Amino acid sequence: MMPVVALVGRPNVGKSTLFNRLTRTRDALVADFPGLTRDRKYGQASIGELEFIVVDTGGIDGSEEGIELKMAEQSLAAIDEADVVLFMVDARAGLTVADEAIAAHLRRCQKQTLLVANKTDGIDADSAVSEFYSLGLGDIYHIAAAHGRGVLSLLETALAPQLEELAEQRQAAELALAGEDDGLTLDPELGFEDTLAALDQLDEEEAESAAPFEDLPIKLAIVGRPNVGKSTLTNRILGEERVVVYDMPGTTRDSIYIPMERDGQEFILIDTAGVRRRGKVHETVEKFSVIKTLKAIEDANVVVLVLDAREGISEQDLSLLGFVLNAGRSIVLAVNKWDGLSLDVKEDIKRELDRRLGFIDFARLHFISALHGSGVGNLFGSVTEAYESATKRVNTSMLTRIMQMAQDDHQPPLVRGRRVKLKYAHAGGYNPPRIIVHGNQVKDLPESYKRYLMNYFRRSLHIMGSPIRVEFQEGD
Ligand code: GDP
Ligand code: GDP
Repeated sequence: MMPVVALVGRPNVGKSTLFNRLTRTRDALVADFPGLTRDRKYGQASIGELEFIVVDTGGIDGSEEGIELKMAEQSLAAIDEADVVLFMVDARAGLTVADEAIAAHLRRCQKQTLLVANKTDGIDADSAVSEFYSLGLGDIYHIAAAHGRGVLSLLETALAPQLEELAEQRQAAELALAGEDDGLTLDPELGFEDTLAALDQLDEEEAESAAPFEDLPIKLAIVGRPNVGKSTLTNRILGEERVVVYDMPGTTRDSIYIPMERDGQEFILIDTAGVRRRGKVHETVEKFSVIKTLKAIEDANVVVLVLDAREGISEQDLSLLGFVLNAGRSIVLAVNKWDGLSLDVKEDIKRELDRRLGFIDFARLHFISALHGSGVGNLFGSVTEAYESATKRVNTSMLTRIMQMAQDDHQPPLVRGRRVKLKYAHAGGYNPPRIIVHGNQVKDLPESYKRYLMNYFRRSLHIMGSPIRVEFQEGD
C-alpha cells in the first residue's frame, strides 16, 4: 500500500517548496473540501518505483487559540494518517517557540518523525542547526528544498522499510522469471505470420501461468466528496436482499473492507465513508479523509466515483477523477440524488456533464438515487464490465491486426521525410491494459496519432471503464 509522508512545520519553513519539488508536474489535490477547515495539499510522488502520497499539512505556528487551535488540531490530525512525518524547521531563522510547540506535539504522537533542517544552502549548516538538537527528536537531516539538495537521501531514510519491501518483491519476481524466455527474441527466418503465431503461443503460456483474474473478487471503492451520498449508497447496497455480506472483524483508521456477493460474483466493497463504523464511541474528527480516499483508490480494481446531481461537477470531483486515472484504475461514474428533479433541470445537468466529462467518454455514467435505490443495481453491471475490460487478455495477432487496420484507415504521418511504420503490437500487461507497439520511428509519432491509435484499440477491443496505456518501442 502507498505510504503517506506528511510535511509539518510552522509557516515559511519551506513545506510548499518541498511539496512542489516532490510532486513535480503531477497535480496536487487541494483539500478545500467543505468540512475541512484548513487547506491541505495532497500529491502523488515517487522515489524509484515506490509511489507515495505527500501531504502538506499547512502552517501551524503553535500559538493558536480558540477556533485557531481547533483548526491546528485538525491539521495535526493529518499526522495520524501518515506513515512518516517530516518535521521541517528553518536553519536560517533558528529555533523558535513554535518549533518547540510542534515538537512537543510530535513527541506525544509517537509517529516516526524525521527532523529536517531546510535552507541549509550557503550557510555553515552544522553550526546553524546544532540548536535544534534540543528538540529531542534525534538526528537532523540537512536539506535545501529550493535546490533539491539532500532531498533524495532524506526520502531514502524516511521510506527505507517500504523501499526494502519493494526491492524484495522485485527480486522475488525476477527470480520467478529467471530462465524464462522474454518472448521477444524471434527467429529471423520466420515469416511475419509465423512470428505472430509464435508470439500468440507465448501469450497463451503466459495466460496459463498467470493468476486467473476471473476467480478473484472485484475490489470496488466508493469514493467522492463529502455529502455526495457515499454512506447512503453503501447502506443501500449492503441492505439489498440480493447481496450476501460477510462478516469482517476489526476496524482500523483505514477504510473498511466488506466482502459481499451479488449475482454469483464476489466483490470486496471498500467503504471510505465508514458506514460500518457508525455508532462507535470514538467518532473520528472528520468523517471524510482525503488520504483514506486516495488509498482506497490505489487498492481498488474499480472505483465508483459518486457525484452530486444538485451540486454539479466541482474542481474536487475532477481532482479525484484525475487521481483515479493516474493510478490506472477503472471507473464508473454515479450521479446521485437524481430523485425529485424536474425534466428541465435533468436536461441541464446532463448537458453540463457532457461538457465537463467529455474527456472520459469511456466511463459509464449512471443516474441514481441512493436514497430511493433507483439505478443502484445497474452499477454492478458496469463495475463488472470495467473489471473485465481492465483484465481482458488479448493475443499478439489480434492486437497486430487491429493495429494494421488502424494504420490502413489512417496512415501515420511522415517524420523527417520518412513514413513512420508500425510493425506489430502485443500486450505488455493488464489492469490497466498496456499495449506495446513496435515499429520504425514510433517514438516520433505525434500525440494526435498516438491518441488515434489508443481510441482505435479501445473501440475494437470494447474496453469500457478502464484506462488503456499504449507504449511505443523502436524497431522489432
Ligand atoms: P511554507 O510556508 O512552509 O510552505 O514555506 P514555503 O515553501 O512557502 O517557503 C518559504 C520561503 O522560503 C520561500 O520564500 C522559499 O523560496 C524559501 N525557501 C524554501 N526552501 C528554501 C531553501 O532550501 N533555501 C532557501 N534559501 N530558501 C528556501
Ligand atoms: P457522504 O458524506 O458522501 O457519505 O453522504 P451521505 O450518504 O451522508 O449523504 C449526505 C446527504 O445527502 C444526506 O442528507 C443524505 O440523506 C442525502 N442523500 C444521499 N443520497 C441521496 C439521494 O439519492 N437523494 C437525495 N435527495 N438525497 C440523498
